[in-house]
Amino acid sequence: MPDRDPSRIPYRRRQPPPAPRRRPAARPPRPDNHDWYAMRRRRRRRRMGRGLLWAVILILLAAATLAVLWPTLHPADDPARTAPQPAAANAIPEDTRPVVAIDPGHGGVDRGSEGPGFGEYEMTWRTANDLADLLEADGRLRPCLTLTETESQDPDSPRIMPSERARRAAEAGAALLLSIHGNSDPVYGASGYECYAIPVGRDHHDESLRFAQLVAAKFGALGQRLRGADGVKYIFYDQDDNKYERDATDTDVYTDPTFGVLEYAECPAILSEQCFLTDSADVDLLGDEDGCQLAARQYYEAICQWFGLEPAV
Ligand SMILES: [Zn+2]
Repeated sequence: MPDRDPSRIPYRRRQPPPAPRRRPAARPPRPDNHDWYAMRRRRRRRRMGRGLLWAVILILLAAATLAVLWPTLHPADDPARTAPQPAAANAIPEDTRPVVAIDPGHGGVDRGSEGPGFGEYEMTWRTANDLADLLEADGRLRPCLTLTETESQDPDSPRIMPSERARRAAEAGAALLLSIHGNSDPVYGASGYECYAIPVGRDHHDESLRFAQLVAAKFGALGQRLRGADGVKYIFYDQDDNKYERDATDTDVYTDPTFGVLEYAECPAILSEQCFLTDSADVDLLGDEDGCQLAARQYYEAICQWFGLEPAV
């Protein structure tokens, strides 16, 4: 086997020596593996502690909020709310008492009759208020005056027409209307009691007549002389505006107008001539301060009778 010619030995480039394998850099030595894990555990415990604390705080806050809001959300569960509430008590209940309209027959520039005692405007105002006080004290009926104090007592206040006073009574829902007046007869010195009912053939005549008879009977029982037939009359104005009267025993129908307050009344009504302001005996009995109270008492008892009630005060 021929020797190999060294020159023919293929050239082989010398390979650089392989780089030494780089060993991965050693991790920096942990200071102390045991301490590091302990520290993590401590951190984890602290985090868990804080979380638990927040959870407890949130639960307490939620419980407190619920305690505050619970009565609002469940009113029936709150015993204080099942009791009658002040708000309900403050609501104004509807006043269903029958209304009694009281008309002080004169006032303002319309002073009415005069005599030794009160003027008619003052006597009617006092009596109307005494009667209103009795009805309020009774509580079953609701008084309503057709004039204000200024309209009654201020001498400069304009006259409130009878038709307007009747309208005010109707507006108040009156079941009954009493117009209070004082009589006058400076020439012949007449005295006694009389009242006027809504005439025959007109709305509310029957109940008006019944009320007039009840009132007249009360004044008669005081010893007052009842004028006409049992103190009850009808009055009319003819075409020439002259007045003419009829006793309540007259059942004929007259079409002439009567007193304005009776003409325009929308409920049973009477006009009462409480006493003669020109007669001292009448004034002593029914026209002074005590007399107004005594008269108011008679009206009150007659009103109770008309409504079928026993006097309660
Ligand atoms: Zn009068």
